[in-house]
Amino acid sequence: MNISVVVLDVDGVLTDGRIVLDDNGVEYKFFDVKDGHIIHIALNMDIKVAWISGRYSKVTQERAKQLKINDVFQNQHKKLDALLTIKEKYGVDYKEIAYIGDDLIDIPPMILSGFSACPADAVEDVKKVADYVSKENGGRGAVRDIFEYLLKSMGMWDSVLEKYLLFDINANL
Ligand SMILES: [Mg+2]
Repeated sequence: MNISVVVLDVDGVLTDGRIVLDDNGVEYKFFDVKDGHIIHIALNMDIKVAWISGRYSKVTQERAKQLKINDVFQNQHKKLDALLTIKEKYGVDYKEIAYIGDDLIDIPPMILSGFSACPADAVEDVKKVADYVSKENGGRGAVRDIFEYLLKSMGMWDSVLEKYLLFDINANL
């Protein structure tokens, strides 16, 4: 496995899928800090990370900004179009792309990508096509688990740990 780009769906993968609305229609979502940290680590390991969401949400944009995700595609009902844009931008083959999704709309990009994964609480049809089904739920550690699985599968985990065990001051930046 040689993955250089990881593409994630947002709702139900990076969040638990619930959307909280206040009286003014402002949306709130819950993201997991450990998921954020592993994305930071992956970016430091030169793995590209992109998000594709079917819905538009300002919260998603804000969280992406915090995590320094440059490739955020929202309002994408045809996820394959965004996937193709990402593939061409980074000049990679589909087999170098990993895709993480949780609902039916994610099945085409999952099938096309070299590696696919989903949270434990993804819909059944998604679980059937996924190469790896996390034991964790969306928004509650699934992204952390899937990235760790990927980095370990590619033999990169030791060098991740090394940075922390050697008290590399940059590791926690
Ligand atoms: Mg979703």
